[in-house]
Amino acid sequence: MSQTASPAPVSGNEILKQNGPTLAGTIAATLADPTLDRFTDDDTQFMKFHGIYQQDDRDLRKTGKKYIMMIRSRIPGGVMTANQWITFDDLATKYGNQTLRVTTRQCIQFHGVLKSGLGSVIKGINDSLLSTLAACGDINRNITASPTPAHTKAREQVYADALATVYAVAPKTKAYHSIWIDNVQLNLDDPANKDFVDPLYGQTYLPRKFKISFVVPPVNDMDVFTNDLGFIAIVEGDKLLGYNVAVGGGMGRSHGNVQTFPRLADVIGFVTPDQVIEVTKATIATFRDFGDRSNRKHARFKYVIEERGLDWARAEIGRRAGVTFAPAKPYQFTTTGDLYGWHRAVDGKLFLTLFVETGRIKDVPGHTQKAAFREVAEKFPHIEFRLSANQNVILANIPETDRAGITALLAKHGVKVENQTSILHAASMACPSLPTCGLGLAESERMLPGMIDRIEKLGTELGLGGEEIIIRSTGCPNGCARPYMAEIAFVGKAPGRYQLWFGGNASGTRLNRVFKDTIKEADIETELRPVLLRWKENRLPGERFGDFAARVLWPEIAAAAAAAPAAPAAPAS
Ligand code: SF4
Repeated sequence: MSQTASPAPVSGNEILKQNGPTLAGTIAATLADPTLDRFTDDDTQFMKFHGIYQQDDRDLRKTGKKYIMMIRSRIPGGVMTANQWITFDDLATKYGNQTLRVTTRQCIQFHGVLKSGLGSVIKGINDSLLSTLAACGDINRNITASPTPAHTKAREQVYADALATVYAVAPKTKAYHSIWIDNVQLNLDDPANKDFVDPLYGQTYLPRKFKISFVVPPVNDMDVFTNDLGFIAIVEGDKLLGYNVAVGGGMGRSHGNVQTFPRLADVIGFVTPDQVIEVTKATIATFRDFGDRSNRKHARFKYVIEERGLDWARAEIGRRAGVTFAPAKPYQFTTTGDLYGWHRAVDGKLFLTLFVETGRIKDVPGHTQKAAFREVAEKFPHIEFRLSANQNVILANIPETDRAGITALLAKHGVKVENQTSILHAASMACPSLPTCGLGLAESERMLPGMIDRIEKLGTELGLGGEEIIIRSTGCPNGCARPYMAEIAFVGKAPGRYQLWFGGNASGTRLNRVFKDTIKEADIETELRPVLLRWKENRLPGERFGDFAARVLWPEIAAAAAAAPAAPAAPAS
């Protein structure tokens, strides 16, 4: 007798969204109560849509829980005015942990904000004409766009398209404005709020997060294939012809769960600039309607694409958007890195890219980078601050006459403009992990700089000094610092223990693979010495470590896995 499987029940988050589509929860009431130091578990889910994660300082857990908030701003394309920078600097100093953190999605995060300072930070960000709405949550997040003004004037049009898309897909709930700007509880007796359904996201928003990026070849500084939806600009000279559309990328996975995996987005065709917004809305709606709402680990658009295929995606998105995709046009990526130092922009002005170690802007003796950026913003109010998706800061729109003054100002704070750091540090990224991220299994931001120093020492000893290797770390497999694109990646498994991945490439077009399932942080020299030596002795002319790993080490890993005895079958239940 055949049985029809009943659909899996939806997750708790889905029920929460269904019952509270305004996303207001009881946030306003808790905010107004000075005796409370934290929000309810349900409200912490709504607050993500407002750009807030409730966390606790994990360094202090032995002595009790101290609740702190992480606030993520939404900065389209990472572009800020000098005035906005000053506001952010003030807010971090007054309410946060005295640091500004540049994220891998061109945002700035505030860490360590107490509940009592939360309202002031979010109001301050909005007063500066930026926002935190939809910076987190089951919704489209900050849209990233290539910030470097070095290659084509079409970059400005690409940025304008990204900006227009941000506003076209922003959620329409009035709760955010009501709570953080008007400082009142949303009036749920108003029928517009009582029966609220978002025109794009519906009543239950998306099954999980959604990420969009715009990139301008030949520089893949956005890691565009790690996004759910990517627009790859096709440019002739300074003219933007349109975009190749890539769908289904994403980094997150879970240890020990082979149903979850990182995936690169696939190009499904070409669209003209006037079709971008409809294609974006159609892609989001496709995820809304076909994403998994029962299992949050499987609730990413990449699994919809993997399971239903590219022909289906092209037809479904095209039908919803009223667009026929043209064949994709040729393009090439050469690098994912930023152009450090002073450079001339295509409009004749200058820009200066400054390295930020692990994205954390702070003041330490001899290197007062936070104070330096603040002073630049005050003394040169006409320049633009652009955040890169590699966690760096680009100062843009600089007239030649300001060059010497900015260089001298930065030098006063110990911030160099040339030879800013070593080649390995310059190509590295880390997620925050401990002590703020509740999901961190191992150190990341606090571990990686020291780890790179050790790898650098080893490389010099082996005669490999000066070779660039892209090295990234995360404290858990979620992949916030895009570790699965790195030539060497450390993915946290437990305190002091990491999964070791090899084989990403310089253009951000190849995923890496697990080389060792668990290594001890203390053993890094022992683990890396033999493979670096083999690279040195057997590399093709100019071959990078990641390419060597993919050519030589991957087949060996596959052969070893094939030869390994099969795991014993599970006992019958
Ligand atoms: Fe936290 Fe994991 Fe993201 Fe790191 S990768 S910030 S540990 S969720």
